[in-house]
Amino acid sequence: MSLFNVAKFGGTSVANFEAMSRCADIIENNPNTRLVVSSACSGVTNFLVELANGISDQAQRDQILKRLDEIHQAILNQLEDANETSVAVSHILETVSHLAEAASIQSNKKLTDHLVACGELMSTHIFAQVLRERGVKATRVDIRDVLRTDSQFGKAEPNLDQIKSLAQQHLIPMCQDFVVVTQGFIGCDEDGNTTTLGRGGSDYSAALIAEAVEAEGLEIWTDVPGIYTTDPRIAPKATPISEISFSEASEMANFGAKILHPSTLVPALRHDIPVFVGSSKEPEKGGTWIRHQVESSPLFRALALRCNQTMVTLRSVEMFHAYGFLAKVFEVLAKHKVSVDLITTSEVSVSLTLDQTDTSGGAPQLPEQARLELEKLCTVEIEHNLCLVALIGNNMSESKGYAKQVFSTLEDFNLRMICYGASPHNLCFLLHESVSKLAIQKLHQDLFEY
Ligand code: ADP
Ligand code: ASP
Ligand code: MG
Repeated sequence: MSLFNVAKFGGTSVANFEAMSRCADIIENNPNTRLVVSSACSGVTNFLVELANGISDQAQRDQILKRLDEIHQAILNQLEDANETSVAVSHILETVSHLAEAASIQSNKKLTDHLVACGELMSTHIFAQVLRERGVKATRVDIRDVLRTDSQFGKAEPNLDQIKSLAQQHLIPMCQDFVVVTQGFIGCDEDGNTTTLGRGGSDYSAALIAEAVEAEGLEIWTDVPGIYTTDPRIAPKATPISEISFSEASEMANFGAKILHPSTLVPALRHDIPVFVGSSKEPEKGGTWIRHQVESSPLFRALALRCNQTMVTLRSVEMFHAYGFLAKVFEVLAKHKVSVDLITTSEVSVSLTLDQTDTSGGAPQLPEQARLELEKLCTVEIEHNLCLVALIGNNMSESKGYAKQVFSTLEDFNLRMICYGASPHNLCFLLHESVSKLAIQKLHQDLFEY
């Protein structure tokens, strides 16, 4: 195992010059930090996604391009020697402009990835220069030379063996001499096309890189001092968790806690790399350690919320006491590459939620062809505007009585789907978006604030 540490900084952490300077302090304070993984400056990816989805009105496109220029220019203006960095950023903005025009004619996933990757490509040019101007021997590496993925644009899968060997060729030798600043979120397929790992993917990139270089630690620097009992923006009385197990934190990430991309902990767990989550604005406040072994395993650990859920309900009286119906349904779903997240069944119906969406955003959609084929088997009802609330904890399947407490807190809510018992680590349910935050607040109050 190498001695070095990988530090990832999210969008708000690199939002402007002051924020980048705070990150530079953090990097300088730990001489073992040799690899820095950065997101795009705050708000940039959202703008790029808008452009990638296709804006036909040129004035509207120009407005967004102007905002993108302003965000980066504001930081460049504070550099002592911005020349080369400015040129590099301008080139990327030109690419953005061309791709946005192409997307306005016809958008597609490959083009989207090429376009949205530009945010990280710009921020890292600037971040490396901020570090150099403070006297840090820093260099920028294009992670597309290392982070090899398949060609599933928008949610690409990493090729671990290739990443490891490319990291050994291109990253590790650099880290001997430099603090290497590189991009999160983006990768490259076999054919040289730019890919992305899905929204929020920089956490995952950092973990993949940490795994490939066998880092001793991974730090995720964000805008909150650690992982809380729930999103503190929803429940202001949420409290930070000082230590949490990989499995609890993975459940939280999978169930939508935005603080970590769902796949982040998979590489860290594989290589037993401890992960620290803290605030780049208030590093003195400490944060959360995610480890294999933890001292306490409470029954209730946290609440997570995942919105933009799509529920598909399939009804058929032929299902009653028959066999093979579900097999046929899943055959259709598999044929159309529809990934199912949750599922509940009754004698004559089955409800399922569709797995999360890719970089282009929005609720996952049941492909039209899949719907038509399912309609030959049963009636198909599709509902949007739903959110999934998950209560995460330990030994839940062996504990008596807690479900009563949960459901009495939620007695006034219309729960659309409940998944209970399949996992010892969670109880989750689907409800309408308009009441989901209230449900989190009430559950937090009753289960965590005493
Ligand atoms: P970054 O840009 O640094 O990756 P994100 O916005 O992706 O940051 O994630 C940080 C945000 O995650 C916080 O501001 C907070 O609103 C949200 N969040 C959701 N669940 C939690 C939780 N359990 N603990 C802390 N933050 C959470
Ligand atoms: N910039 C990307 C996003 O906003 C990736 C990330 O920040 O993790 O989704
Ligand atoms: Mg994030």
